[in-house]
Amino acid sequence: MSAYALSVRNVRKQFGGLVAVNNVSFDVFDGELFGLIGPNGSGKTTMMNLISGALKPTAGEIKLGHERISGLSAHHIARKGVSRTFQLVRVLPSLDAEENVMAGAVFGHQRLWGEEARKLAHQLLERVGLGGRAHMPVSAMTYIDQKRVELARSLASNPRVLLLDEWLAGLNPSELQIGIELIAELRAEGRTIIMVEHVMDAIRTLCDRCVVMSSGVKIAEGGVAETLSDPEVVRAYLGD
Ligand code: ADP
Repeated sequence: MSAYALSVRNVRKQFGGLVAVNNVSFDVFDGELFGLIGPNGSGKTTMMNLISGALKPTAGEIKLGHERISGLSAHHIARKGVSRTFQLVRVLPSLDAEENVMAGAVFGHQRLWGEEARKLAHQLLERVGLGGRAHMPVSAMTYIDQKRVELARSLASNPRVLLLDEWLAGLNPSELQIGIELIAELRAEGRTIIMVEHVMDAIRTLCDRCVVMSSGVKIAEGGVAETLSDPEVVRAYLGD
């Protein structure tokens, strides 16, 4: 039986009077590609921020394996093995691709330095299709290539759980295909991934299971095909 990589238990996040996440629970298994979906404003980004520690829950608990991570700082949570990409790419534009990825290796929970970090950066840049561009300044790269750099940097920490926050957003159709294939390969390698995504084809193609949120509440959970055809889910999206 698989272990839980991440458990979210009765998590609530309130901003003043607004309840952005309301008593949400779900579990993600090791090696699973798990989708977190829902219309705009449903609380997905807030949930990603709660998992990564950018925000602290008002109530409830998040565990990485058996260890409680909710309440720890983002920095601590990253060290424990949760790594993420951002909706709007966050790379260090004045540095080259290799340096950006090395930063992930140094910062991550395995803390590689110097030549070891450089070697890993090269492998990962190769892995995301940027083998020949290790020394290109990131500011000179196309948007998808910057996204690839950010993904390689997230992988450099060898995370137990990788969070992809709309990683496929803003890609043109051919780039999207490449992006989907890349995520599928990561899944095949046994990575545990939680993805927030608006591209429904990607969710259908890639995810094992998903949770659907609407107005801060979990409205459905399960295998992707049945969940997306759930009448309540269809209604939530039509109202988007
Ligand atoms: P999604 O990612 O699904 O679009 P969000 O998590 O961004 O949804 O937002 C959920 C709700 O929480 C929205 O009503 C949003 O306006 C509100 N919200 C998100 N972040 C904050 C914040 N820092 N302060 C106040 N309200 C917020």
